Amino acid sequence: MLGTAPVETDPTCQITLGNLYDTPEGKRLLTCIQCGVCAGTCPYGDVMEYPPRKMIAMLRAGLLEKVFTSESLLACVACYACMAKCPRDIRLTEVLLPLMKEQTLLHLPDLPAELKKALENTLRYGNPMGESSRKRAAWVKTADVPIRILSEYRQPVDVLWFVECYTSFYPRGQDTSRATAKLFHAIGSDFAILGNEEKCAGECGRLTWEPGLFETLTDYNMAVFQKYEFNRLVTSCPHAHNAFMNRYRKLGFWWELEHTVPYFARHLDRLKPMLKRKLNYTVTYHDPCCMGRYNDVYEEPRQLLTAIPGIKLTEMKHNRVNAVCCGGGGGGMWLDTYYKAKGYDRLSERRVNEAIATGADVLAVCCPYEVSRFEDALKVLGHDKRMIVRDVTELLAESLEV
Ligand code: SF4
Ligand code: SF4
Repeated sequence: MLGTAPVETDPTCQITLGNLYDTPEGKRLLTCIQCGVCAGTCPYGDVMEYPPRKMIAMLRAGLLEKVFTSESLLACVACYACMAKCPRDIRLTEVLLPLMKEQTLLHLPDLPAELKKALENTLRYGNPMGESSRKRAAWVKTADVPIRILSEYRQPVDVLWFVECYTSFYPRGQDTSRATAKLFHAIGSDFAILGNEEKCAGECGRLTWEPGLFETLTDYNMAVFQKYEFNRLVTSCPHAHNAFMNRYRKLGFWWELEHTVPYFARHLDRLKPMLKRKLNYTVTYHDPCCMGRYNDVYEEPRQLLTAIPGIKLTEMKHNRVNAVCCGGGGGGMWLDTYYKAKGYDRLSERRVNEAIATGADVLAVCCPYEVSRFEDALKVLGHDKRMIVRDVTELLAESLEV
């Protein structure tokens, strides 16, 4: 469950193709009954030459190289749908796919340019946009409330808020950060940020098939965390949350961990009396893959949304464990041009069409990738006058009267 993280490191981070069958997770791959549920549930199962079921068949037949040299893995957006639905509990998204993606990187003659650039930028600047790390905390000056930066005031703090990249640099992401800061203040949290010392947590680098990049970032971030005294790390990025929960543990990450949505839901008794401004919106909520399918966080965002006076919540056809991915995970964030060239459906557009069908006027999200993806999809489909995208924290902050 999302929240206080388990103390054990996820064993999947020790698995390689070489030791695969020596590990319980690897051995489990051999229990695959070839039912095809994974391929049927995969949002890009229809365009992959080797969807998950076939991938396992190729693995058993010793023909993996054929999979590496195909472009199938480029279409995996790490949505966890295959993993959530497998009747044999085979952890495809966590075990097999990252290993295969890593090999694909070594075998493909070249990566799509947009993805290559994002990975290079992350290595060089600590964020996929290629922004100067010196500007990471520039948004803080535009917040309505004071935000403490740990390097400027090194006293111990309760909450270290790990802001992450899109919420630091991207203008609409900064709106989420300003709202989050307002909420921390409203409930009286003792919080601070790393400011320009923060770098990408790296989870998408790992699921994108760049373990080297991921290790560079984990080493860096761990060294920064160890400089300060704090009790818990709270982040608005579900991808960063997963990285800390599973991968940073082996490097000694021992702090309590929460995503902002469960954190604020846990403090709803303090927050709710301040949610006084009525918002007359009909809202539909998109379950991000990393929060829902991976961490079972389905109710907390809905509790927060329904605590706002005036908000009417309506569900999309595919919700909770069946939610359609926004297409941004596992490198998909930087593969839109590639998918378009291939003639694939954009998943963000598929999702936005479902949201529009509910008749809602707000699409609520809680992952930094989704604001830009869905706003863009609404524009492309000509629905941007009918629906707006808001992070859950933005809606809470809008209703707030302190
Ligand atoms: S859903 Fe599981 S058991 Fe069925 S084919 Fe896929 S991996 Fe194998
Ligand atoms: S993680 Fe999602 S996109 Fe990747 S293979 Fe599984 S279902 Fe398909």
